[in-house]
Amino acid sequence: MVHAFNAVLFYLLGLTPFSILNVLSTVFYGVILQTFKKSTDVYVIFTYFEIITFSFVSELFAGGAFCYIFYVVGMISVVFYLLPPKKRMKHIFQGIGIIYAIAIYLVYMKQICIFPEYAPIVEACKGKIGFMNLGITLFTLFYISNLYFFEMNAARETLTYCSNHDLMTGLFNRRFFEHIMQRNKTENENEYTIAIFDIDDFKKVNDTYGHQAGDSVLKTVSKILGEGWREDYVTVRWGGEEFILYMPQTGENEAYDYLENLCDKIRASTVEYGDHKIKVTVTVGMCTGNDLTDYENIIRQADDKLYYGKRNGKNQVVK
Ligand code: GH3
Ligand code: MG
Ligand code: MG
Repeated sequence: MVHAFNAVLFYLLGLTPFSILNVLSTVFYGVILQTFKKSTDVYVIFTYFEIITFSFVSELFAGGAFCYIFYVVGMISVVFYLLPPKKRMKHIFQGIGIIYAIAIYLVYMKQICIFPEYAPIVEACKGKIGFMNLGITLFTLFYISNLYFFEMNAARETLTYCSNHDLMTGLFNRRFFEHIMQRNKTENENEYTIAIFDIDDFKKVNDTYGHQAGDSVLKTVSKILGEGWREDYVTVRWGGEEFILYMPQTGENEAYDYLENLCDKIRASTVEYGDHKIKVTVTVGMCTGNDLTDYENIIRQADDKLYYGKRNGKNQVVK
């Protein structure tokens, strides 16, 4: 767009070689955009070399009077952010940009000019053109650095989510649970309950309907566990088909009622997979404690209760 605009502007100013140069650049962008639609990296590299080369040639035409060096300096600073980190060539690209910047400076110092016949027009409009080039460079730098900042933030949020969650169920993962429990150890909480859920005969679900059907069951059960009405409860995918529910400020009776309710919901749910309607149940072991520093022991006791439940008929909450 800038080149197309400049092609017209320079034509009107009577600077024909500049106008032709901008027409060529506009055509160049059109071709590159069409050819490398899907490959942003190649497009960025071509754009980078187009900008620095165009700036150098323009200054050869103008005897270094139009301040195109701003674009080169700007591109040297942003090419690093525009290309992915794995592109090792970045340093070489920057090196070439630096050589171009020095070359433009020499053109300016030595007053090298290919078209001296245009010198009077160049002299008359160099202030405005230089200011326009400064403005476009500053705007581009501002825009790209903000874009980079937002992209970095989004990438950081995604990374944090991935390191804290189990991606299949969307529940917190074991690593994150252990992290928050270690952190909470210092806050002397009054009473809390930890429950461990294990889906009954889950292997049969996999064997009968396939692994993907098993995954659907895991997602459904996770959804029910994660959508309880207590927002302060933490639901964790503990292992394959095992889940932990950490219930702060919750005593044994309250926790038992809550867990019974969740189990009812799981019993009542149906997972539809293809033509199949799959029903599952869970066995839950729970244990209440007063001291968070002892939470690993509480988990062990809840696990023992779970295995008691498994040996005694499954499909129940054991306190
Ligand atoms: P029990 O009632 O005693 O708990 O029996 P079970 O069959 O549920 O227990 P077992 O430990 O024998 O089997 C658990 C199965 O869970 C085995 C494993 O293949 C399956 N599993 C673990 N993680 C996943 C997963 O992410 N997706 C699917 N589809 N299956 C999984
Ligand atoms: Mg298990
Ligand atoms: Mg199981």
